[in-house]
Amino acid sequence: MIFEVTMREESEVWDVIVIGGGPAGSTVARYVAEGGKRVLVLDGRDPIGSPLQCGELVPTNDEMRKLCPNVPDIDDLLQTPKEAISRRTSEMHIVPPSGKPLRYPFEGLMLNRVLHDEWLVNLASSKGAVYITGARVESVEEEIVTLRDGREFKARVIVGAGGHNDPLRRDHWTESSLKIPIKFVLMEGQFGDAVELHFGSMAPGGYAWVFPKDNGANIGLGIQNKFARGVSLNSLADEFISKYEGDVTFRGAGSLPMSGTIKHFVKDNHLLVGDSAGMVLPSNGAGITIAMVGGRIAGQVIVSHLENGTSLHEYEKEWRLQMGAVMRNSKLSFKIGSWIMRLPDWILNLAFNPLTKPFVWRFVTCRKPFFIF
Ligand SMILES: Cc1cc2nc3c(=O)[nH]c(=O)nc-3n(C[C@H](O)[C@H](O)[C@H](O)COP(=O)(O)OP(=O)(O)OC[C@H]3O[C@@H](n4cnc5c(N)ncnc54)[C@H](O)[C@@H]3O)c2cc1C
Repeated sequence: MIFEVTMREESEVWDVIVIGGGPAGSTVARYVAEGGKRVLVLDGRDPIGSPLQCGELVPTNDEMRKLCPNVPDIDDLLQTPKEAISRRTSEMHIVPPSGKPLRYPFEGLMLNRVLHDEWLVNLASSKGAVYITGARVESVEEEIVTLRDGREFKARVIVGAGGHNDPLRRDHWTESSLKIPIKFVLMEGQFGDAVELHFGSMAPGGYAWVFPKDNGANIGLGIQNKFARGVSLNSLADEFISKYEGDVTFRGAGSLPMSGTIKHFVKDNHLLVGDSAGMVLPSNGAGITIAMVGGRIAGQVIVSHLENGTSLHEYEKEWRLQMGAVMRNSKLSFKIGSWIMRLPDWILNLAFNPLTKPFVWRFVTCRKPFFIF
């Protein structure tokens, strides 16, 4: 449900404007609206969520409780509806270049991501959030948000949830993030039950994935260009995807921030959330649910700020309480992993073995990579 904004609403001062109605932005909007505040979401796409730019894998709520033990009330935050779930998976395979996987129990949900994001929009709308789609934000200055078509909107608090190219982050933050370019396809066919992450020279500095869906799979690959020795993402992706047989029904590409959260998410009345703040766990690429964790904290703190004058910096403090340790471990795992993954394939094949199996899992699930630090 997308509300049309009237002339009167265009000239009013909103409590909150959110740039971007993805998982981060729609979650902020939901909690701000639940807190009784007037929130406007501006998104450049129409409809929001299309075209697909995702591997579509999220952990179940039970897995999220293990992954992020300090995040409260996960069932309220993550209410994935049945129609947005393409398949449930029960195992994760970590696959070295030899192709011989290490197998782990892992309950995942393969989404229909487009439906998932539409559902989040509908949820926030049902609480009272107002959306304008096809509204590309050009710039933000203090309380004014200007669209590419010249329209201006005003709010007391402005949230940048525009993903890895968010205009608020671009214009008002200097810190940079490492971005990993990604190519992926949807392929028809049967691909078993396990989600697979592949590591080695097929995806320098990154990883490839095969995530089975209801009828087919989401298959993709992301790399760090500096490790690719001049080989292009296109040729690496083509080579990996060509190992699988099936009709390709969709081709997509995107970019993922992989250096973890930036130092500060708040400046004056401006906040960043989701990919724009680097809220992706670099050791496993999880961004959807993590953006929603950030979105809920931001939304709740904004309501409290507007009602009682609570400092917006409480958002950063609460984020650190809920996600600080997980993000720290994930960043460290990614740094160590990036170094290990530069080793020749034959060493990686030796390194992924039954003895190292528990350590590999600690890396992927953002726990301290070694028991002592
Ligand atoms: C190829 C790929 C595969 C991925 N696979 C997975 C996966 O399997 N599992 C997982 O958990 N995560 C995955 N991720 C990461 C995940 O998609 C992101 O972390 C997540 O979408 C972050 O949500 P967000 O709301 O911050 O940003 P986004 O989902 O990117 O939403 C940003 C929104 O802002 C809008 N926007 C952007 N700029 C403007 C502007 N100037 N004006 C107005 N609107 C604007 C966009 O239209 C968009 O709707 C993947 C990412 C990519 C690129």
